Amino acid sequence: MELVNNPAEVPEAELFTGGHDGCRGCGAALAVRQAMKALGPRTIISIPASCMATIGGSGLSTAWQVPFYHSLFECAPAVASGIRAALDVQGIEDVNVVSWAGDAGTADIGFQSLTGAAERQENIIHVCYDNETYMNTGGQAGSVTPYLATTPDTPAGKPTPRKDMLAIMAAHHPAYLATASVAYPLDLIQKFQRATGIQGFRYIHILAPCFKGWGIREDQTVQLARLAVECGLWQLYEEVDGRRRLTVIPEHRVPVRDYLRLQGRFRNMDEGAVAALQAAVDRSWQGVQS
Ligand code: SF4
Repeated sequence: MELVNNPAEVPEAELFTGGHDGCRGCGAALAVRQAMKALGPRTIISIPASCMATIGGSGLSTAWQVPFYHSLFECAPAVASGIRAALDVQGIEDVNVVSWAGDAGTADIGFQSLTGAAERQENIIHVCYDNETYMNTGGQAGSVTPYLATTPDTPAGKPTPRKDMLAIMAAHHPAYLATASVAYPLDLIQKFQRATGIQGFRYIHILAPCFKGWGIREDQTVQLARLAVECGLWQLYEEVDGRRRLTVIPEHRVPVRDYLRLQGRFRNMDEGAVAALQAAVDRSWQGVQS
């Protein structure tokens, strides 16, 4: 497979078009636009309740240029598994079947169907677009909301740490696992290209900031997604057969403070909490590099 190596090689066709219903600066819409460049027209999407379920069109029009199935909150991977089975019965092998869920549809409400599909090694791609909060229902905290982030139901800051979904999904021994970021579109597109060339269960987790939930400006989505990588908090890597490879290595890691201070949701973090997070990131980064 020829991987795209520069912007000029990215397909021009838009399979998730402009005119969608997302907010300006929506990281989720950016993520799906980039991913569709690799997935291509032979793709069927299953999406549970989420911002993404409505962004693509909730009236008589749609931004999707591929078949799109709006599933219940709990079951996008199960629906994708069924779609794959129906294609298999017909001998249709050249279609990417994708369950595309937010962090709630992945880590919380949709987790039972996700873990089932992963354990069965269903021949699908599950994508988590992660804005670290339940934006479709008002921005409530979920299990991947970061420690001390303020939300409408954790006004003093979330009292528990973020669930490590990458570790949980790695424990399912997927055929392919990767992290991605909307600030690194070539890296993201290449990972979807690699995923489409592999059979079996594949999992891609994309950091996709939401300006409303994060307390940033609409035009800071990509800046914050990039800072998350540059400070080492969001590591970009892929795993094939359990072997991890970093795909982006920041030349000089910036302090996590630079990432936190731009976001209103971390206004309650004191100096001690920032220092503790910095130390945790440093330990984690050393572990990835070793
Ligand atoms: S609330 Fe956030 S995730 Fe939802 S459409 Fe708006 S920017 Fe996107």
